This record gives sequence, structure tokens and C-alpha cells, in this order.
Amino acid sequence: MEIKSIVINKGKEKSIQRKHPWLFSGAINRIISDTGEAPENGELVEIVDFKNNFLALGYFSDGTIAVRIISFEQAEINQEFWNSKIRSAYQLREKLRLTDNSTTNMYRLMHAEGDGISGLIIDFYNGTAVIQAHSIGIYNNLDFISKGLEHVYGDKLLAIYNKSAESISKQTNEEVENDYISKNGVPNLTGLEYGNQFNLDWINGQKTGFFLDQRESRKLIADYSKGKKVLNTFCYSGGFSVYALKAGASEVHSVDSSQKAIDLTEENIKLNELKKHQSFTSDTLDYLKENTIDYDVIILDPPAYAKNQKAKHNAIQGYKRLNQMAIKQIKPGGILFTFSCSQIVNRKLFYDTIVAAAIEVGRNIRVLHHLSQPADHPVNIYHPEGEYLKGLVLYVE
Ligand code: SAH
Repeated sequence: MEIKSIVINKGKEKSIQRKHPWLFSGAINRIISDTGEAPENGELVEIVDFKNNFLALGYFSDGTIAVRIISFEQAEINQEFWNSKIRSAYQLREKLRLTDNSTTNMYRLMHAEGDGISGLIIDFYNGTAVIQAHSIGIYNNLDFISKGLEHVYGDKLLAIYNKSAESISKQTNEEVENDYISKNGVPNLTGLEYGNQFNLDWINGQKTGFFLDQRESRKLIADYSKGKKVLNTFCYSGGFSVYALKAGASEVHSVDSSQKAIDLTEENIKLNELKKHQSFTSDTLDYLKENTIDYDVIILDPPAYAKNQKAKHNAIQGYKRLNQMAIKQIKPGGILFTFSCSQIVNRKLFYDTIVAAAIEVGRNIRVLHHLSQPADHPVNIYHPEGEYLKGLVLYVE
């Protein structure tokens, strides 16, 4: 099949030569195609410079990011291509000692640009691979991707679940549904993370079912929880709460505005046979306002407040208000774990926002840890936008 060429404006090749994986629509000079037609959303295209030199291959889309690059070399996008991409992602997780680990059997296998494939997320949950395609180009390759997973995992793969409906439906007029692509065995409905057990529900859960990206921060909360009263806000499935209780917290309160999330939390508390826990279905700000606060440890892990540049200002105000409230309420000598997963709010901006919140309240605060996403969510050094999760651990006197 003919591959259409996207010719880019002079000077715009620099970012691609530096291996940045996105081509913005404003950089396009013209499109060369035999038929004279523009590429369709999801079509494989090649990017060439103004002298027609090959730069990269990627999937076209009609948004601001016009091409999501999947190869900086000429390549056939066939089964072998996908096998090698999945194999290489797997080999990194092997190095991270996640693939054969008696206490942790869930991890991110494929982290989009961080693993060289813009638009593809694959999470592995104790035998089940959950795929999220974020572009039509990737979605059209689901068959290759599934076979690649089977090729790399062999018998260790019990099922493959496609959870792309939400993002793909927005980009096409077709009805797209989430469903199993294959089921070679009975999927395990619980998984382990540092020896803690969690129920898994990729069908009804948010994102792919579980927030794997907080694994290392959850582990760290254990160090600060013994004998402490802990408040876990935006708790989702209660990950931080389980770690805190296992580590000997005197009491843990979990808060989420979603009843479904609270149900998941309760299930996980039960699964780990833990007591001294209470959950509250509430907006976090309301909860912080209404309750006399005597918490030693507070966790603030809100969803992304800003999904685009336009929302940035409001997001910053949101982070400031939330953190101000927690800083005001926490007990003297308290420990605050605070996060932002908005890609658009970078580490410095997040830090400055926390400083602004601290100044408003006026308490003495020291930074104990700078946290980020774990190694199975790697950041491609040429794609700094991939660093989305930022966290601080603060000591509030
Ligand atoms: N800390 C969690 C992940 C948090 S995801 C973990 O370790 O798994 C963000 C959560 O915030 C979601 O469960 C969502 O339901 C909840 N949420 C969103 N807005 C909220 C609000 N205003 N108040 C409380 N919870 C909220």
C-alpha cells in the first residue's frame, strides 16, 4: 500500500531529529500522495523534511498532534515489528524485576512514548493484559499487539482485555466497545503489590482498573504510618490505606467522591483482613472543611486537574486551595503526601504552587521527598511531557 508523505516546514525537522515523538499540525508544509487525497485519521504516514529525506513513521490524526511517531527508522509495521516492541518493553520490566516477582505481580508493560509507542498503554494484572489504545492508528493494530503479547508471554498470559472505548469513541463515529480479545484461562481477579492484595476490576474500574503509578509512593507511606492517624483522600481503591494499616497505623480514614471507589476500598480492606478503617463518600475539600482535623498523615492524590493549557490556571488554583487546606489542618509534626498527575503542570510549577499554599498558611514546612512515577512508567528523555506524576512529602511543624 502506498504510504503518504508528510512534508514538514524547513526547520521543523530539528525536533524529530532529536527524537521527539509528536509532529504538530502547524509544522506540516504539504502532503504527497498518489491519489491526491489527505491521509485518513489513523493512517500510517511517513514524515519527510523539505528535501524529501525520511525522518520518521507514525500514525496520522486530525488533531493538534498530527502524527504520533512509532519509528525513527524505515520499517515494515508487521507482526515482527510489534513482537519486537513488546519484547523490548517486557525486557525492561524483567530488569526491573517485575515479571517474576513473588510479592508484586502487576505492573505497566507499555507506557506509550516512554516505551517508544505513542498512544499505547498496556497494564499487566497477574496474568491479564489490559490494553488502552489512545489513537486510531494504534487501535487498528490491536490484532498485531495481541498476538505480540501472546508471543512474548506464552502460557503466562491468561487473558487480553481491550479497554480503548472511551478514548477511541471520541475520535470516531463508530460504536467501540470494551471487551476481551482473548481468554485462554480464567483471569485472576486479585493481584499483589509488595505483598498487599488488591481486587482487580479492569471492566468497571477507572482507567485500566488500578493506579499502578503510585506503587512506590504507597510503599513509602508505610514508613510514616506506624501508630499514626492517617487520612487518605482521593483514595480510589484504597491503596495507600491498605499500606498504612499494614504498617500499623492507629486509624485510617479514606475519602473519595465516588461511591464505587469507596466500595473498592472497603473490599480491599476486607481482603487484607484489616481493621481500624473508616471510609467517607465525600468531596475532599468538603471533608477537610467540615471535620476537626487531627491527622498525623494526610495524602492528597487528586485526579488530573488540568488536561490542557486552557485549564492550567484553574488547576493551579485548585491545587493551591486543596494544599492550603491540608497544610492548615494537619497536626503539628504532620506528614503530608501531595501529588499532581497533570502533565501540563510541570514539577517546578507544582512545587511553586505548594510553596504559595504554604506561604498563605504560614507554617514551617520542610520537603522530605520528591516523588515521581515508578520505573515501569519510564520517561523518554526526548519527550519530557511524559513525566506526568509529581509528588512531595512535607513535614509540617
Ligand atoms: N490514590 C489512588 C488513586 C487516585 S485517582 C490510588 O492510589 O489508587 C483519583 C480519585 O479521586 C478517583 O477515585 C476519583 O473518584 C476521586 N475524586 C475525583 N474528584 C474528587 C473530589 N472532588 N473529592 C474526592 N475524590 C475525588
